[in-house]
Amino acid sequence: MIRVHPAQTHSSALLSIIIPFCNEREMLPLLLERLHPVAAQLAMNCELVFVDDGSTDGSAEFLLERVHQDERVRLVRLSRNFGKEAALTAGIDHADGNAVVIIDADLQDPPELIPTMVEHWRDGVDVVLMQRRSREGEGWFKRFSAYMFYRFLSRVCRQSIPVDTGDFRLMSRRAVSALRRLGERNRYMKGLFAWVGMPTVVLPYDRDPRAAGTTKWNYFGLLSLALEGVTSFSTAPLRWATGAGVIAATLGALFGVWIVAKAALFGETTSGYPSLVAIITFLGGIQLLAIGIVGEYVGKTYMESKQRPVYLEQEVVESTPEPQRASQPTQERREYAQLG
Ligand code: UDP
Ligand code: MG
Repeated sequence: MIRVHPAQTHSSALLSIIIPFCNEREMLPLLLERLHPVAAQLAMNCELVFVDDGSTDGSAEFLLERVHQDERVRLVRLSRNFGKEAALTAGIDHADGNAVVIIDADLQDPPELIPTMVEHWRDGVDVVLMQRRSREGEGWFKRFSAYMFYRFLSRVCRQSIPVDTGDFRLMSRRAVSALRRLGERNRYMKGLFAWVGMPTVVLPYDRDPRAAGTTKWNYFGLLSLALEGVTSFSTAPLRWATGAGVIAATLGALFGVWIVAKAALFGETTSGYPSLVAIITFLGGIQLLAIGIVGEYVGKTYMESKQRPVYLEQEVVESTPEPQRASQPTQERREYAQLG
């Protein structure tokens, strides 16, 4: 039998929809237009927590007006661009709902699926994970690299990070509280979500193309996110470096034995400037790679040791002083909150 949280049976429960955005001025009106009917359809209260990740195109100004017209809208403005992962963390910290949905601002994740996600939550699951069935409007190279990356990651990391899932998901208050206890600075959210675990359902959906604007990711950014993902959740690359060292040293030793044996038995001295250079550059390459891998982890440790906050808010703008809160506002937040 599934035990249901008391809050899940109440129609007065609150759903927080978290929308991190950076320069999405064109998207925001479209997004609100599609979110409003969805919110109206839900048998629960709803708050929209927009996190402005340092937009410079007037997105925040547009929302500031909305905050005053619509009491469900709350705007958390970060002091600069901290990246989507940090913006998500800010949204999660500022969401008060009994359940929290994370959605991109570019309408690639259809908001119309939210009621279905909420139904599953009401049935007692903590995490409703949306899995991409198709990735419309993305080139074959992006699809292929994403495919390879997710499979590689689930091989390498000890807890499996579900394949083809993004940040589009619903989490119960229990899962959110657990997530908030993970205080690391390197925030690879997909990995953190997976680490928390809890009863989960996976729902397939078709990912739409971006409705307007352009993606904020380039391949370099995705590559560094991938590296972040692997190094945050696994120390396997260190093991590989050791493995490569062992293999190279063994081969080197065997090669040495072979050269000596050849000279002793057949009187053949090996001449070989090209092979020498090839071996030296090969070994040099492996060494640099291994040092790079170690450096990656040392750098991570250094960043963590500084204990800097993941993000800084500039202001929190909301029009309702006290909606039904499932979480206690923090002291910090009261200081920052500027009631509009
Ligand atoms: N985003 C953000 N900060 C950033 C980059 C992106 O908050 O530094 C937001 C962006 O506005 C969007 C979401 O993250 O709401 C997903 O970004 P995008 O569509 O560019 O990524 P993709 O869908 O291509 O992975
Ligand atoms: Mg997108």
